Amino acid sequence: MLSGKVAVVTGGTRGIGRAIVETYLANGATVIFFGSRKETVEEAMRLLKEHFFDVTLEGMYPNLSNEREVEDAMAVIVKRYGKIDILVNNAGISDSHSFYDYEETLFDRVMDLNVKAAYLCSKAVIPYMKEQGSGVILNTSSMVSQYGQPAGVAYPTSKFAINGMTKSLARELGPDQIRVNAVAPGVTNTDMVKALPEQVIDPLIKSIPLRRIGEPQEVANTFLFLASDLASYITGAVIAVDGAAMC
Ligand code: NAD
Repeated sequence: MLSGKVAVVTGGTRGIGRAIVETYLANGATVIFFGSRKETVEEAMRLLKEHFFDVTLEGMYPNLSNEREVEDAMAVIVKRYGKIDILVNNAGISDSHSFYDYEETLFDRVMDLNVKAAYLCSKAVIPYMKEQGSGVILNTSSMVSQYGQPAGVAYPTSKFAINGMTKSLARELGPDQIRVNAVAPGVTNTDMVKALPEQVIDPLIKSIPLRRIGEPQEVANTFLFLASDLASYITGAVIAVDGAAMC
């Protein structure tokens, strides 16, 4: 489904991002994934290479909140692989601190990665996409972008912002044939969720109509569809992959 395409996936070392990397590789794309550190990128590369042999794959770790580093990374990718067809802004952090002692530094940290990095990466790829007359930008939102959440205010705030960025860029970049969409996962089986205590996760599962949490692969399948030509007339959408959860 993605044969001949070049895809950049942020937060590709584990969880949903790694499932996207694997799914894109399995569907013929050249994939460049970003992680936060050299060590985690190298470890992800080692694991990926155990399963994928005849693929073009590279890992990088630019500081996603630094415009210069993001621009340089995208320039290197275009120089090496000729183009960028697909950008997936997936890197994200969550938190569940009470608002009564919610520190500015934490708010900034969440917004810098969940929102600013998506802005910087999108800004850095659009000149290339515009020049080639096509492109796909996909953002990882969350079900909390619909309902908010009762703690960790920066996280839902960042995901509401991602929906706004998705819909706005879809309108602005549509005339240049750049499609922009978001996937809003529900509770998904990754480290982010494994870190939650049992007393939080158990009631969550009971409240989900499908009575289970989602798997990263189930989220990645939607990222595959949206990146492919099957979604050629879809832009500005935020697609829920959440088992109809309303947590
Ligand atoms: P995860 O913690 O398993 O993976 C996060 C990824 O982000 C990793 O690849 C990590 O390297 C990268 N990352 C973290 N900090 C970074 C930094 N400072 N700079 C660059 N990269 C950094 O998380 P996940 O559950 O796979 O989440 C991926 C995305 O899905 C996030 O945007 C998250 O908000 C969203 N999401 C997750 C769930 C869930 O239940 N897991 C639900 C809804 C949305």
